[in-house]
Amino acid sequence: EFALLNGEIIERSEAKVDVEDRGYQFGDGVYEVIRVYNGKMFTLAEHLKRFVKSAESIGISLKYTSEQLTDLLRNLLIKNNLVTGNIYMQVTRGIAPRNHVFPTGNVPPTLVAYTIKGVRPLDNLKTGVRAILTEDIRWLRCDIKSLNLLGNLLAKQKASEQGCFEAIQHRGQDVTEGSSSNIFIVKNGTVITHESNNLILKGITKDVILDLCIKNNIPVIERTFSLAELDEAEEVFLSSTTAEVTPIIGINGKKIREGVPGPITKKLQELFEKEIEKQCGV
Ligand code: PLP
Repeated sequence: EFALLNGEIIERSEAKVDVEDRGYQFGDGVYEVIRVYNGKMFTLAEHLKRFVKSAESIGISLKYTSEQLTDLLRNLLIKNNLVTGNIYMQVTRGIAPRNHVFPTGNVPPTLVAYTIKGVRPLDNLKTGVRAILTEDIRWLRCDIKSLNLLGNLLAKQKASEQGCFEAIQHRGQDVTEGSSSNIFIVKNGTVITHESNNLILKGITKDVILDLCIKNNIPVIERTFSLAELDEAEEVFLSSTTAEVTPIIGINGKKIREGVPGPITKKLQELFEKEIEKQCGV
C-alpha cells in the first residue's frame, strides 16, 4: 500500500507524522473523503473545490492546483489498484513549535492522502438504518470540513452504543444534520433538507440529490425543519459520500413507515445509481 505525502507517493508505512504537526496537536486542518467506483473518482471536482474552500477558510493555502491534485490522486489509485473504496485526504497547517498562534514564516502545509478499500453498503441501502436524536453541541462553523470532529464522534458513539447507525443532531427544535451525513425528510411529497449555512456541512452527495430532484421534477426545498416535522415525516433518509442515499427506518426506537424505505427515497437511490454509472461507468 502507498500513501501520498506532500506530493510524493511513498510506502504507507514510511508516511510518518511529526509530534508537532498542527493537525496532530490541534486538529488544525481540513479533510475530504472521495468515493471511488470502478477505479474512478465520483464528483472529484466538487470535492477538490470544497477542499480548497475549507482550507482557505482557515488560512491554509494548498501548494498544488486542482489539476496537480487530480494527477496525484489518480497516480495513488493506480499504485494501490483501488477499484471500489475511498480516498482520504487531509491538509494541516504544518509542523511548528506548539503554539495556538499560527506559525509565521514559510511553514509548508502537510498534505496526506491514502486509500481504503470498501464495497458499497448494499444491505443498508436496501433495508435502511436506525438513528437516534441528540443535541448538536458542535461549534458554529460546521460548514468547514475540519479535522476537529469530537462533537461528531461523541454523537456517533452514542448512536452506536444504542445499536444505531447514525445520530441525527438538532439545535433546540431545529434538525441540523447527522454526525457524518446530511438528513432529509419527505413531507407532503416534498423533499426537505437543511439549507447549506454555517450550521451544517454542504454535502457533495446532498447537492447531487438536490440536482437529481430538480431534473426529475421531484419537489424539493432547502430549509430548516423541526423535530416535530421529523417525527411526522412520510420518509426520512441520510446522505453521504460513503452511505449514498440511505433510508432511515426508525428514530429513537419509533418506526417510520412500518420500518420500510419509502418510494421517494427508493426513486432517489435509483437516480443516484444512474449518476454513478454516468460518471464512473459501473
Ligand atoms: N455532514 C457531516 C458532518 C459529514 O461529516 C459529512 C460527510 O461525511 C456529510 C455531512 C456528508 O457530506 P458528503 O456528502 O460530502 O460526504
